[in-house]
Parts: sequence; C-alpha cells; structure tokens
Amino acid sequence: MVTEPTIAKQKIWDILEQVTDPEVPVLTITDLGIVRDVKLNGDEVEIIITPTYNGCPAMDMIAMNIKLALIENGYQKVKVTSVLAPAWTTDWMSEDGKRKLKEYGIAAPDKKFNIPEDGVECPLCNSTNTRLISEFGSTACKALYQCNDCKEPFDFFKCH
Ligand SMILES: [Zn+2]
Repeated sequence: MVTEPTIAKQKIWDILEQVTDPEVPVLTITDLGIVRDVKLNGDEVEIIITPTYNGCPAMDMIAMNIKLALIENGYQKVKVTSVLAPAWTTDWMSEDGKRKLKEYGIAAPDKKFNIPEDGVECPLCNSTNTRLISEFGSTACKALYQCNDCKEPFDFFKCH
C-alpha cells in the first residue's frame, strides 16, 4: 500500500533528481548518491546529504541548489543536513552517473584508483596508458591526467 507520506516523499525525490552538481552539470545529486534521506517533519522538509568530499566547496552550492529547487516547487521550510558518517564512497554513484561522467570526458571513480596513480582509463580512447599530471585538477575533487595515446588531458573524479 502506498501511503500519503510515501507519495509526498516521492515528489521530493523527483525534484532532487533535477538538481545537478555545480562542478559536473551532467550529473544530478541522485546520480552522485549523496542524498541519503528525505524527512518530513510537520511542514518542514529535511534533506539529509553526505558530502562527496569533506571540505568540497561545491557542497555549499549543492545545499543551496536543493533549497532553491524545493522552494521553487512550493516548499517553504527546507532544511539541508550534512551527515559525514558513513562516508560517501564511489559505490554510491549510480552506473548511469558513471556513464554520464565518461561521456562528459571525466574518468569515473574506480576503486582501483582511490589514490591517484598512472593507468586510469582515458574517457576518450579507453587507453590505460595514461599518466597523472597533478593530484589536483580543475577542482580539489579531481585529479588531472594525460593520455599517452591520444595525448588528451582529462580529469579523474577522485572523490571517495
Ligand atoms: Zn586517450
């Protein structure tokens, strides 16, 4: 049986599925798997999120985007709570999210490469003949790589 609170929560999840990561606009926050829970406390909506990276500046923006999206949809009291434990892992990212990252030209997180090192698969030509250029790419969450085969530089999403 589908209860009313379930329907109300599903509506909120549907809105959250439209909120994108400010750093990687092809990814939604539900692709990233950072939304842990949706709670209804009377007329207040509480969204529980777990940051992908402690101190990631994008997280403040994500929290703001969540609030804005819900307010635009008529929710007046919105609270975003960050929960650090259990820590986010790349396992929480959906397969769809990993595919979208790769299409965007960013190597998807891979457990084998939690500590950036050479050999991350190039998202452009799939070569593993790649090398780490910098542990910090365009943002602290990404490492910069270069492919030895197609010579293209690319980002590796290393949040874990
Ligand atoms: Zn390549």
